[in-house]
Amino acid sequence: MIIVLKPEAGKETADEILSDIEACGLKPLHMPGKERVVLGALGDERVLGKLHLENHPMVESVKPILAPYKMVSREFKADDTVVNIGGVPIGGESFMVIAGPCAVESREQMLKTGEAVGKAGASGIRGGAYKPRTSPYSFQGLGLEGLRILREVSEKLGLPTITEVIEVADVEAVEAAASAFQVGARNMQNFRLLSALGEIRKPVVLKRGMAATIQDLLLAAEYIVSKGNPDVIICERGIKTFETAMRNTLDLGAVPYIKAESHLPVMVDPSHGTGIRELVPPMAKAAAACGADGLLIEVHHDPASALSDGKQSLYPGQFEQLMKELEVFVDASGKKLSRPG
Ligand code: PEP
Ligand code: MN
Repeated sequence: MIIVLKPEAGKETADEILSDIEACGLKPLHMPGKERVVLGALGDERVLGKLHLENHPMVESVKPILAPYKMVSREFKADDTVVNIGGVPIGGESFMVIAGPCAVESREQMLKTGEAVGKAGASGIRGGAYKPRTSPYSFQGLGLEGLRILREVSEKLGLPTITEVIEVADVEAVEAAASAFQVGARNMQNFRLLSALGEIRKPVVLKRGMAATIQDLLLAAEYIVSKGNPDVIICERGIKTFETAMRNTLDLGAVPYIKAESHLPVMVDPSHGTGIRELVPPMAKAAAACGADGLLIEVHHDPASALSDGKQSLYPGQFEQLMKELEVFVDASGKKLSRPG
């Protein structure tokens, strides 16, 4: 339920209503806006009805949040959320590009690739230390050693980092090493993991599950936000459809749809979305054109030697070219490329 106070309502009124909401066993929320104070009440809305807040002299309106996801919905918060990843803004008017290899393979590989993407204009680096692979025989990542490398390279290059966390037991180590968590497609509905990330104040890039609807995705985001962490970035990375020509079907319609439904920033990962290197630049530009707030792109200094996802990884030169061509699309959607520092 959303309770909009009259412009003349003071802090005492807000406090009084918030404590009434809490006394009913609902979760009270205080959202001071630009023009008005808005209060929220989450839980069984029938209970709130008994308070008859619509009759309160300082209440302008009381309306239910119709979306099943509450805190991440636009109904709940009209303004875009801007998330800060290691000092770099994403969301609102800020467009952030994060690039790097699929997996952290070695110090040399991370340094070479990180230097190249940073020089080309990426404002963050990616690289998985824990890799959830379809086959148990595939490279599973370097684990703690990978996290150590990621942190060292991030400090050396002055670029924030994002890396995947695959289980609750690793949350602490990943938190200490990276600027943001990545929750992978295979873990989008690992509700224990989502809840654990909700207790931390570090951004989470939540990737869409390959068989998840937009509603599933936004409800997964709601798990994190409702537990107390507001810094969630949604990532469209393609879904499974009957089409087999590409690795996944990149659902770009999801971008403007989610942006209309939710205030959270939305990124696009055209690498996993297509699985084909040549398709990454055009789909990255299309993502910027349809209103995405950022991109997550796989780049490897030597894709032929990559231990995972080499086929979809850009060569550094291709990434550099893409960054040059991307700017007009970012401009056209009224955003600016974020830079670190
Ligand atoms: C990745 O980013 O390398 C990855 C495994 O992504 P996804 O979870 O989207 O498959
Ligand atoms: Mn990958």
